[in-house]
Amino acid sequence: MDEPGKKTELVRGSCFCGTVRFEFALPTLFCGHCHCSMCRRMHGAGYVTWIGVPTPRFSLTAGQDQLTVFASSEHGKRSFCNTCGSSLFCQSSKHPEIMDIVLANLHDTIDRKPQAHYYFSDRADWTAIGDSLPRFGGETGTEPLATESASHMTTEKHA
Ligand SMILES: [Zn+2]
Ligand SMILES: [Zn+2]
Repeated sequence: MDEPGKKTELVRGSCFCGTVRFEFALPTLFCGHCHCSMCRRMHGAGYVTWIGVPTPRFSLTAGQDQLTVFASSEHGKRSFCNTCGSSLFCQSSKHPEIMDIVLANLHDTIDRKPQAHYYFSDRADWTAIGDSLPRFGGETGTEPLATESASHMTTEKHA
């Protein structure tokens, strides 16, 4: 995956108050907007932008004991900071090799822009999307809705 000889770039991030800190090495696996109801409620937002990083390249650098991890579904675990409430990560036992990280919590720029909208069928009806990114939805949240594109955030339902 990593090109030989290429320097591994480290990206850092944290929750709003800075208690929970983390870092990971580029490249990322994907970047996409999720419109599922769980993401919307967890963040109090119209949709949430996630990136995916291989779990072995991710590490918590501070505040591990201040991170609440809870089961948001049978296979999903989401976590947030005990002090400020920032939602930070989502992990699924169906693909433990991938760590979902909230893009807004990063301090550095990454290697890609958002590529698509997922769970677009479940979106809030007050969300107005004016971009031309591919839209996915249906049962799995990842079925193509409009135009082309073979991009995939994950093949599993968001947790
Ligand atoms: Zn915090
Ligand atoms: Zn979601």
